Amino acid sequence: MIIEATDLRGHTVVVLGDTRATRNAIRRYRRLGAEVLGDAVPLPGAATAPRTGATPWWEAALPGASLLVVVGEAVPGAEEAARAHRVLLLREAAAPDTGCVTLLGGGPGALDLLTLRGLRALAGADIVFHDRLGPGQEVGTMAPAAQLVDVGKLPGHHRVPQVEIERILVEAALAGKNVVRLKGGDPFVFGRGGEEVAACVAAGVPVTVIPGISSAVSVPGAAGIPVTHRGVSKLFTVVSGHDPFTEQELGHLAGLGGTIVVLMGVATLGQTAAGLLRHGLDPATPAAIIERGSTPSQRTTTARLDDLAGAALRARCHSPAVIVIGGVAALGEGPLPGILDVAGAAGAPA
Ligand code: SAH
Repeated sequence: MIIEATDLRGHTVVVLGDTRATRNAIRRYRRLGAEVLGDAVPLPGAATAPRTGATPWWEAALPGASLLVVVGEAVPGAEEAARAHRVLLLREAAAPDTGCVTLLGGGPGALDLLTLRGLRALAGADIVFHDRLGPGQEVGTMAPAAQLVDVGKLPGHHRVPQVEIERILVEAALAGKNVVRLKGGDPFVFGRGGEEVAACVAAGVPVTVIPGISSAVSVPGAAGIPVTHRGVSKLFTVVSGHDPFTEQELGHLAGLGGTIVVLMGVATLGQTAAGLLRHGLDPATPAAIIERGSTPSQRTTTARLDDLAGAALRARCHSPAVIVIGGVAALGEGPLPGILDVAGAAGAPA
């Protein structure tokens, strides 16, 4: 039995036990307003040590107390002492310890782009929640003890809503599980990782984040496109193309004079390209669309900015894809002849 909703102000509660469940119980009785004696448990196991003749601290604390709570294993002498001091004795099962949540960046596409720390987290996972863009099912080999749950799709092919993902992560951790939430790329780059961390913190669930290799940099790289290159671009801006850009955003992007990397940008590509041209980007600016980076079906489509949307249509480009706009896009595989003198640029000062 666990007392949840009562007012214990003015009462003294003595809590015995030496596990995390005991610490949780102590916190719970404090929240109910009680004066709790319990964190005075001097050494692990001291409360349960055989009685040696001297009065244990908790028994000395019983006169004046209302409740003696024993969490988990029985404490020798507790029953007799409670009776002698006319204190109510309550036994609580040691509820499972709270587990934890690890947000893990799975890198883009290939499983072996995971970090060593990520590998270790998977090896110790009880349950792995993954979605479409992470390494997904293959992860089973790295997490042999874990149950794999795909939250990218419900049976009806709808994504599990974000609040529901947060709820099930927290629920699994509160049930004592070692939860790994595997995300494509890096958890904090358009991954809603911040929201999941906040949900864990709000529920009192310990949460850690293991970074991952973001597609923003690595997918262009896998196509031979460096997002910065001496003499070509000394900055890169990563933007979400999920929603069309505002005129103000387009103006800023066009004015930056560096590499523009667009994630989730295939559907809005026509608007993005037209907008950047309207705001003054050179129509001949090199651009590339890299689909399914770091997978066996990776494909790069290159075009001038003024033909980018048309090229994407002709090639039937699909998500997931990273779009790169800027001089560096000509440095990858299939550079557009004559647009950029790569050798010359490489030797130029940054
Ligand atoms: N957190 C992820 C990004 C999530 S947003 C990261 O850091 O990489 C999802 C977008 O990422 C996709 O629409 C696509 O633009 C990009 N993306 C992720 N994996 C990709 C891949 N293997 N190839 C191409 N684009 C990818």
